[in-house]
Amino acid sequence: MTKFIVFIAGSIVGSFLNVCIHRLPRGESIIRPSSRCPGCGKAIPWYDNIPIFSFLLLGARCRFCKTRIRIRYFIVEVLTAALFLILYLYFGLSAKFFANLVFASLLIIATFADFEHQEIPDQVSIGGICAGVMSSLFTGLTFLGSLIGALTGGAIIYLAGVLGKAAFKKEAMGGGDVKLMAMIGAFLGWKLVILTFFIAPFFGAIVGITLKIRTGQEVIPYGPYLSLGALIALFFGDAVLRLLFSGLL
Ligand SMILES: [Zn+2]
Repeated sequence: MTKFIVFIAGSIVGSFLNVCIHRLPRGESIIRPSSRCPGCGKAIPWYDNIPIFSFLLLGARCRFCKTRIRIRYFIVEVLTAALFLILYLYFGLSAKFFANLVFASLLIIATFADFEHQEIPDQVSIGGICAGVMSSLFTGLTFLGSLIGALTGGAIIYLAGVLGKAAFKKEAMGGGDVKLMAMIGAFLGWKLVILTFFIAPFFGAIVGITLKIRTGQEVIPYGPYLSLGALIALFFGDAVLRLLFSGLL
């Protein structure tokens, strides 16, 4: 029963994250006005705003004008619900569970805002640094561990950007990525944020090469791969570090 409630709660939060993804990069309020169809401007009635289901029942179209609803709305709702459930199965009802609900939600906004707008809103990254540092008081990471994590995360990707610029003579890393990595460090601590840094390019390279071959696109948003790397580090990082350093430490 709790699993079901966690999943439903995740889908409702996902619905709200969709609003954040759409509005934060535009500098709009995430509270008002209520959602409207971008096609006909009609307010979306509550029964067409039920997470996951409404999208399927409406066949991905507005009830009134039949404008297509972006698949992203559905993906974010399902993804958030699934992540909430996985976090519950992993952490149980604990302080770490609630802290990581916030962490995962921020990563989802960062990921999809970066995909759509090539921008990670400061409310998410800088707000997330504060949330990460505060949550460390309850999760056992410690206040200092969280601060060191934030500094490590920001510094490692900033330096990578400087080196990349020197090597390739063009901008390799945006300021948004530096703030995002500081947020990831604030939640995960210095060891796991360094691991995140090494996991991300693996996925980034696969997508980057695919995009370059298919569309000739040179610059790819990097936030989604840092976010994915952070989630992998969250769930498997300690095991990976034990494996890597079991002989050394
Ligand atoms: Zn419409």
